Amino acid sequence: MTDLGDFDLAVIGGGVNGAGIARDAAGRGLSVLLIEKHDFAEGTSSRSSKLVHGGLRYLEYYEFRLVRESLIEREVLLRAAPHIVRPMRFVLPHSPEQRPAWLIRLGLFLYDHLGGRELLPSSGALDLARAPEGEPLRQAFSRGFAYSDCWVDDARLVVLNVLDASRLGARVLSRTELISARRDGGEWSLSLRSGALESRARARGLVNAAGPWVEDVERATGANSAKRVRLVKGSHLITAKFWRGEQAYLLQSPDRRVVFVSPYEEDFALIGTTDVPFAGSPEDVAIEESEVDELLGLVNRYFRRGPTRDDVLHCFSGVRPLFDDGADDASAITRDYVFDLDAPAGAAPVLTIIGGKITTYRRLAERALERLQPFFPAMTPLWTKGATLPGGALGGLGFSGFLSALASRNPWLPAEVALGYARRYGSRAEDLLKDAKSLEDLGRHFGGGLYEREALFLAAKEFAASADDVLERRTKHHLRLTPEQRSSFEVWFDAKNRTRTV
Ligand SMILES: Cc1cc2nc3c(=O)[nH]c(=O)nc-3n(C[C@H](O)[C@H](O)[C@H](O)COP(=O)(O)OP(=O)(O)OC[C@H]3O[C@@H](n4cnc5c(N)ncnc54)[C@H](O)[C@@H]3O)c2cc1C
Repeated sequence: MTDLGDFDLAVIGGGVNGAGIARDAAGRGLSVLLIEKHDFAEGTSSRSSKLVHGGLRYLEYYEFRLVRESLIEREVLLRAAPHIVRPMRFVLPHSPEQRPAWLIRLGLFLYDHLGGRELLPSSGALDLARAPEGEPLRQAFSRGFAYSDCWVDDARLVVLNVLDASRLGARVLSRTELISARRDGGEWSLSLRSGALESRARARGLVNAAGPWVEDVERATGANSAKRVRLVKGSHLITAKFWRGEQAYLLQSPDRRVVFVSPYEEDFALIGTTDVPFAGSPEDVAIEESEVDELLGLVNRYFRRGPTRDDVLHCFSGVRPLFDDGADDASAITRDYVFDLDAPAGAAPVLTIIGGKITTYRRLAERALERLQPFFPAMTPLWTKGATLPGGALGGLGFSGFLSALASRNPWLPAEVALGYARRYGSRAEDLLKDAKSLEDLGRHFGGGLYEREALFLAAKEFAASADDVLERRTKHHLRLTPEQRSSFEVWFDAKNRTRTV
């Protein structure tokens, strides 16, 4: 059995919340262990609608605290990671049966003013009968509104936090599961498993950031929180993009839920999400036929030439680990987060995280550490608000200036490959390209813009340990590979990985 040693803080769960807490804590001088039982972001944090948003809809539930915090975080994250976070304009076709225009105007006014907006444009009315954004919509939708939020590559947001945590000295381990944790004197004694290997570690404090598995981890630690989690499934469809322009659409369903239709990876559309109460193991979550019908039905209610079943290229589902506030309806359950601190006198603390959004992860991490401050009085001050994430320092050029500079330094790089590298790696694209002078220097091309060099970079620098880690989370190359190309990449990557780890 390997002994990983002693840590101040052990964080269980490498989703956005665990990764964010590990990064923040490592930057505040704590020795940190972060463990994730699968790949980083393989849980809920790669299955979101990928919006860094205030959540216009939450205003109806009077969630002003959450909306304000989220609106502020939008611009904090846009500044911290301008390569993976970008502004997105949303068109909201007016559908008076769902909500009257005055209510939407009021919501947008609050949205514009609640959160210290500096970078994003304000909202406004749209004459959809004339504006180009109305062109793909049915004639009945002649009026609408436009407002701004941000889009994020959720899985990359997680891995950038993990990378930063590691840079700051945290020990970060994927494919390592917490089996049990027992209080032993003033510390936690942890039993971990990676494949067939068992290991142990000790920590003065524990954070349970296991998302939908939070109650399983609670059982493994013997802690017993009075706060419960409600699991709500959400599914998305991916099709070819079926409208012109960069804008996304927010569609209201007959039951007043909302569905986003966003441009995705240049040529694709992301349609989601549903809200379905979920029981069972989060590992087994999958889309149901009724969800596909619901999403396609709604899109076709608004779009003149929306996708059909045959146009659906991929689907994915995730499970929201929501704080159970007793709401009857899955859409009405709060999206805010709560903490449960279990710290009997003289015993080591465990902080359980319930709920939270991609958008609020950074602030959630700050607040989590505030709760743990009494146990770690030497912790240095807050630091993440003005800090960039890896690759996010674009030299004051803005994303498009940075992309032009990258393309002109590497004129041999195809435009779509340069765009992909700039978006995924930002200023770290230079580490990836290093001495490359021609396309041949990037090695074998597997199809869809995936070259050997990028895959090796991800294995060496971003903890990618399987072909799926590369294709589905560190990148979205899976969207552009044929089944044959995918299997030849898998064979190649597994062989490389075996020689790397022997
Ligand atoms: C359909 C859908 C759409 C969403 N859209 C948005 C959106 O647009 N914007 C937004 O801000 N938020 C959105 N969210 C919410 C957001 O995705 C989640 O709140 C967030 O990802 C939760 O992160 P987490 O770190 O708590 O959980 P997770 O990402 O699930 O991470 C928990 C991790 O813990 C690991 N783990 C579990 N047990 C153990 C163990 N014993 N040992 C080690 N590791 C363990 C799991 O493998 C998992 O990776 C959406 C959620 C869903 C489901």
